[in-house]
Amino acid sequence: MTQTNAPVSTHCHDDHDPDSMTLAQARQRMLESVAPVTGHERLAMREALHRVLAEPVQAPIAVPGHDNAAMDGYAVRGPDLPGEGSVRLEVVGTAWAGNPFSGPVGPGECVRIMTGAVVPKDCDTVVMQEKVRRESDQIILSAGPRTGENVRHAGEDVQQGQTVLEAGAAITPARLGLLASLGPVEVTVRRRPRVAFFSTGDELTPLGQPLPPGGIYDSNRHTLFGMLTELGVEVLDMGVIPDTRETLLAAFVDAAACADMVISTGGVSVGEADYIRDILDQVGRVDFWKVAIKPGRPLAFGRVGDAVFVGLPGNPVSAVVTFYQLVQPTLQRMMGVPEPALPPLFPVVCQDTLKKRPGRMEFQRGVLEQDEAGRLQVRATLSQSSGVLSSMSEANCFIVLDMEQDRVEPGEMVQVQPFWGVMP
Ligand code: AMP
Ligand code: MG
Repeated sequence: MTQTNAPVSTHCHDDHDPDSMTLAQARQRMLESVAPVTGHERLAMREALHRVLAEPVQAPIAVPGHDNAAMDGYAVRGPDLPGEGSVRLEVVGTAWAGNPFSGPVGPGECVRIMTGAVVPKDCDTVVMQEKVRRESDQIILSAGPRTGENVRHAGEDVQQGQTVLEAGAAITPARLGLLASLGPVEVTVRRRPRVAFFSTGDELTPLGQPLPPGGIYDSNRHTLFGMLTELGVEVLDMGVIPDTRETLLAAFVDAAACADMVISTGGVSVGEADYIRDILDQVGRVDFWKVAIKPGRPLAFGRVGDAVFVGLPGNPVSAVVTFYQLVQPTLQRMMGVPEPALPPLFPVVCQDTLKKRPGRMEFQRGVLEQDEAGRLQVRATLSQSSGVLSSMSEANCFIVLDMEQDRVEPGEMVQVQPFWGVMP
């Protein structure tokens, strides 16, 4: 890359590059240079799944709306509970979920009650049915139950007027249910960012066509499609763009005209950088970055027209790593999430030797599994080459190695970032 005349690292035994910025710096710069997309939509409740709330949601009602029974049993008055021995109470009615008992309950009386039914106004306690003996219209209740037990209180989940979710909250299934528990039919969410993407490279062959000599099928566009779709943005696949000045220029102009972000893959490493750079100087403002991570050092970031532009490296694993570590948080901010969370990182024992030189943060591909004792441990995937996509397919975590770390020996602790969780 001929971006600067600064010397490349003179050490052949390490990976330091004085021109590189750290991952944290790159992330910070990308986050700072984007804003949430403007435009809101009112969507039917279910359509809002995975979208981001455009405004805070206040509860128009309390949830639950009334004190209600947490168990099937008998609603009683606290003072009637025996301190010792037992008492007989008269059953004066039944409270069903959705069909309250509205009469009075006097001293010495109780009401049969089902889970979720409103606790009658004169009662404050629900005694589990297993704790009483029923004899026709009476129950015999022994000492033990305490005043107030088995009652779920009004507003225990949500209080009326409370801010239930803030603007910027992503709507998960639980949040969808929480919003539904308040009763609205529609939710106001942000418009999804529109992301146009294409791959570059004369070697790239569309699927379904025979491979010419030296040709490869274009995998990055499919990986990108998957990552973008999972994230919940609107995708605009612009196909493969041949490495010619005219076609690339036209692709950038077209993409920028209709998208909030333009992503290209390929053509940002040594040899091609100046070529794309030339075009981008004409239609945008783009910096070519070297980020001190492996895989994924070359990256372009800036603007094309009014759109944010990211040029991902062409190597398939590099494209995935840079997407998750840098593009995803940037897009989350554009989606309206104010502070995108850093992926969780936790320590586990490494089973393998990991080759590494100081100078770059590495995202090696790992397989996290449990040993016979149930302890988590991690092993490296077969290949750590940035071109070997099967390593990414085999992996279920990144093994994240700090910049200054060198090789790791079996038994050492390493930090991992799992790909999976309870929710997809
Ligand atoms: P580049 O960044 O264009 O120099 O590409 C680096 C490497 O990634 C080369 O081996 C390319 O053939 C490969 N590559 C580039 N784009 C893609 C793609 N869309 N799908 C698969 N491999 C790619
Ligand atoms: Mg290329």
